[in-house]
This record gives sequence, C-alpha cells and structure tokens, in this order.
Amino acid sequence: MGTADDPPSPFLGSDPDPPEFESSKSVCPFCGVGCGIEHANGDKATGWKGSVNQRGEVCPKGVAAFEPVRHEKRLVRPLVRESGTHVVAPWEEALERIEAGVREVVDEHGPESVAFFASSSCTNEENYLVQKIARALGTNNVDNCARLCHSSTVAAMVERFGAGAMTNTLEDVGEADAFLVCGANPAEQHPIAFQSYLSPAVDDGTTLIHVDPRENATTAEADVHLPVTPGYDIPLLNAMAKVVVEEELVDEAFLDERAEGRAAFEAHLEDVDVEANAREAGVDPDDLRAAARAYGEADRAAAFTGMGMSQHHCGTDNVHALINLAVLTGNVGKPGTGINPLRGQNNVQGANDVGARPGDLPGYDPVTDADARDRCAEVWGFEPPAEPGRTQVEWARSVGDDGVRAAVVFGENPAVTEPNANEVADALADLDFLAVIDLFETETAELADVVLPGSSWAEKAGTVTNTDRRVQRMRPSADPPGEARRDLEILQEVGRRLTGPDLAFDYDGPADVFAELTEVTPIYGGMSYGEIGEGYQRWPFPAGAESGTDVLHEGEFASGDRRTELAPVDHVPPADDLADDQLVLTTGRVLQHFNSGALTRRSGTLMRLRGEDVVQLHPDDADARGIEDGDEVRLSNERGAVTVAAEVTPSITRGTVFTTFHYAEPLINVLTGDALDPVAKIPEYKHSAVTVERV
Ligand code: SF4
Repeated sequence: MGTADDPPSPFLGSDPDPPEFESSKSVCPFCGVGCGIEHANGDKATGWKGSVNQRGEVCPKGVAAFEPVRHEKRLVRPLVRESGTHVVAPWEEALERIEAGVREVVDEHGPESVAFFASSSCTNEENYLVQKIARALGTNNVDNCARLCHSSTVAAMVERFGAGAMTNTLEDVGEADAFLVCGANPAEQHPIAFQSYLSPAVDDGTTLIHVDPRENATTAEADVHLPVTPGYDIPLLNAMAKVVVEEELVDEAFLDERAEGRAAFEAHLEDVDVEANAREAGVDPDDLRAAARAYGEADRAAAFTGMGMSQHHCGTDNVHALINLAVLTGNVGKPGTGINPLRGQNNVQGANDVGARPGDLPGYDPVTDADARDRCAEVWGFEPPAEPGRTQVEWARSVGDDGVRAAVVFGENPAVTEPNANEVADALADLDFLAVIDLFETETAELADVVLPGSSWAEKAGTVTNTDRRVQRMRPSADPPGEARRDLEILQEVGRRLTGPDLAFDYDGPADVFAELTEVTPIYGGMSYGEIGEGYQRWPFPAGAESGTDVLHEGEFASGDRRTELAPVDHVPPADDLADDQLVLTTGRVLQHFNSGALTRRSGTLMRLRGEDVVQLHPDDADARGIEDGDEVRLSNERGAVTVAAEVTPSITRGTVFTTFHYAEPLINVLTGDALDPVAKIPEYKHSAVTVERV
C-alpha cells in the first residue's frame, strides 16, 4: 500500500471503481476499414450499423477496442526526466519543459532542427494541428506513419492519376469480375472489408488472384495463387502485362482515349520473357498466364495493393507496374475497377489528406507551390516554409550536428516501428530534446524528456478518413482518466506555447478545427462536420454533393488530364544481397494484432487469441538447417538478431521466412533494412537477408 508521502503513480492502476462508458457511435481505432463501433458491456465493444459495416459486423480487434483504454499501465500523469529516470510532474511543469526544450533548439540551430511525428491513429483535426504547429515554427519536418506503409503507393498514384487514394469504393468493387490482390491479406488484415465486400463477390463468381509469398486466409478463397518471392513484383507484373498485350486483351478504346506512351511501353515489353520472369519471381509460368488472362479478360477488374508491394526500396515502381496493368485493360474510372490501396491505420488516409507530410500542404499541394502557400497563409496568418522537410525515416537518421535535434512524437512508437531499430533507438536517445504524447510508456516514450498522457480513441471526438476516402465522426464514450487530457486540447496548448500568442490555436473543439481545415484542404472543401452526422462525406466533395465522389477518374483523371502515361518499369534488385545460406525475411500483420501492438498487446482477449510468436519456414529450408517445428531459431544479419520459435509449414514459399512485426520482444525490426525508395522514401521492410539457425 502506498502512503500519503509516496509520489503519485503515473499509471491508472487497478481502479476498483472504473468509470462507466457511455454508448456513443464511434469508429474503430484499428484498421482503415472504418467500422462503426460502440460500447457494449464491461470492456467490450459491439458494432453499430455504420456506413461500412452496414450489418453492424466487427472483427475481434474491434470487439476488444475498449480493453486497453482502462489498462492499469495507462499513463494518467505527465512524466519528466530527472537524473535519467522519469518522475511524475504537474502539467504546467511538463508543458514548460516542452516549450523550453523545443525553443532552445530552434533558437540555437533553427527551425529545421525540430521534427514532428503526427499520428495515423488520431483524428484529422489533431493531425491538422500537428502540421500547423510545425509550419508555424518554420519547418516542414512533419510526417506520419504512412511514410512507413503506403507512401510509395501515394507517390505512384499521384504521379499517374493525380490522387493518392483508393480509386473506387468498397461497395462498387463488388461489381468486379476479377480481383487482383497484390501484397495484401485482407481476410486477416482488413477483415470486415473482406468478409462484407470481397468474399461475397467471390462467392458470386468473381475470380480472385492472390499475389503473396504466403498462403493465408485470403489465399484460401483464391482461384489463382502466385507465391511471389519478396522483391520480385515488377518481373511478375511486367510478365502479366506482356501476356495481356500478346493475347490482345488490351482495352483499345481506353488506350486511345485515356493513355499516352503505348508504343514505348510495348517496345519495353518486347524484352520481357514471360517464362523467365515468372521463374525469377518464383511463380509457375502457367499460373501467371492464367492470372493475366483472368484479369485481362474480365469486363471489370479491381486491383488491391498492400504493404507487400509498397514496403520495398522500389515500392513506387512496384505500384507503377500495377497501374500499367489497370491502364492497359481500361480498368480505371468506372465501378468495379481501379487501384485500391488497403490502408493500415484508421486514419492514415486522413493524416496525409490534412497535410502531415513534409512535402505537401493540406490537400497534397506541394509546399513549393506558391499559390497553395498563399491559400494557407490567408487562413493561418503566416506563410508555411517553401522547402520540403525531412521525412520520418530521414530525420531519425539525421540526428546530430546539421540534422534534427528535437522531436515531438504524437501517438507513434518509432523505436519499434522503424527499420534497423537498434540504430533508431540510439538516434532517439541522442536527441537534445524529445517529447512524446501517448497513452502508455512505449519504447519511444521511455527515451523521452517529457511524456504527456493523452486521450484514447474512446475519449475523443473528431473525424477520421477511411481507406475509401469516407470521412466519418468519432464520438467519446468517456472522459480521459486521472489527469490525462484530450489530445486536441494538448495540441492547442503546445501550439500556443511554441508559436506565441499571435497565432490562433484557440479552437472551440473539433468542429471548429474541421471548419478551418476544409478551407485549406481543397479535397475536403464543402464538407460539414454537422452534416456528416452518423453517416459520411467522401472526398472529393463537389459543391452540392450528397455524400461526395465515389469513383475517381471518370472522364478525366484527378490531375485534370484526360490521359495518363503508360510507364515502363524495370526490375530493381533488392537492397540486401542474399548470401548462399541466407533466406529472405518478410513481415506482416495477423488478425489479432495491430502494428506496434501499443494497444493490442494490452488487450487480454487479443493476447489470449494470439499464438506464440513464430517464424514460418518452408519444410525444405527447415530440413536443410536441421530445424523442426517448434524449435527455437535465431534470425540474424549484420543489423541484429532475434530468437523465435519455428513453424515449419509449406504455406510459405521456399527461400522466404515470415513473421509478424507487432512486438517489442522479439523486436523484428532490428533485422529490417533502411534502404529507401528514392521517390517515396519508404524503407525496404519486406526483403531482409537473414541467417536462420537452430538455437
Ligand atoms: Fe476495426 Fe478494421 Fe476490424 Fe473493422 S475490420 S472492426 S475497422 S479492425
């Protein structure tokens, strides 16, 4: 038992009388599908009939979403670092330290020495304020975790189409005759999208082609499985394009009206040998031809892309190769078609839309665009800087003399989620000043000078934008516990302190912030917080629209052009050379967990559902190393080593091993490399050379 003289605990503890949750119609805090959930009883959630989960269906993560909210290790008081350890401090002292810590670095080294990490699991309004604070300070060093998951997808889609988002909607893709799912496992990672939209279409006859090195729950419903070797998507997709051209499956009318560069593209394909490319990609040439035919012959074919495509140092080119297939076959700009990135966190789309990007202002206009800067300046009262800032991965590797010296990390955990994690932890520890706003003392928060206890999803109001561009409203079910504060209020206070009294950070709640962000974010122009209600508004939102634009690029692309280029792309070898005895490590999510696990590893239900951490290994690769199912194995490379149990299974393709990235222990990202895509600066998470040995 504590005494009256003991310092107060920073944690919520085992509250014998936890506050009651109200039942409010909110949005699931996990994946980008955006299911409507509300409190049920105890610490369980249930679905309400939302705009996505129209029958009120939810997956196990959604059901468990309240469990971490009142976890005993939830932070409820600010922490400051004293003599190397965290101690509880009053809010005023913690905020003063942030003000002094950041200001000191700015005064001495300039605004470019500060970086902000916004949060893809927080609201549009909160992310909008984070980017506004950074820009008011004089830096574009603001990014969000899309840098680590889909920045390459966005880069390729913006270049080719003018919009970096799902071209279609979850509803209309059901009209497709073929689905091409590349580097994604929606049956486990976007379960309600799969079971409510994709799977029923497959049951009705839509052909499902699954490109993935692993047989998983999505493969179980597939007609064709192409078990691609990680890093070889371009040879595979180029070979599919060659089959489409050879077998005259192109859409002549679409190419005439909407595409440029056909001659150069077909000339590039002349050097493509379908059989050789298939073997290079690790797939059966006949299966590849069958997949190309199914996609090319379909009246309407919808492609889906996930992190298996995007998280490579050629991720942008991977997506260009996929877009080529869609353009060749005329599968853009009509229902049941398109390129549809399946976004990870519940607001990763929105965090990008509202400008938490170092190169773009709200609405994706580049910071170099003087008109866009003027548009912001009229509303903000200051002009944002014109030079693009550092991306998340770049600033974390620039810590020191001419790089970043202070950082504010809002609801993210880069010590676990970034590649080459040992180096990242060292870099974060070397910062002159680090402030973290979070629910828990995460691995990143442990390194911070100040930690502010923020609000969980269940305690906040605001908007989030799901994977098919629909903006929905979250509603609080409770107040933050203890001394924890709502994130929007924290950011307003931090904004006031860091940027001075002249700039307006005095908003009257999320509706007020939303009204401002619609003024500077053209794709959100015309939306109304009040009118979203329990429904949604989808961007772009033309004047007078009822719910926004469903299918993008009809008639003309979002870029304003009627045509797009076919873009020849060549294979880019993976960054890690593979020694003879090494295997390729690739990573992914499982149904019961989410990203760094900051929430899901604090859910008793999900932890019970989770199996032991395993690495999947093909029987031939296991035999060659004397490894049996259940053995402890050591995965290592020049960046680090982890020990994990082996699951010997033919469901993983030969030469590749698979494990999840959800845990700080074992921390798989000590093995992943930080070679960056030259355009999108996304790291190569999905191909790491590792030595695998029995312990
Ligand atoms: Fe939440 Fe995604 Fe599951 Fe829906 S599918 S309940 S949004 S985790």
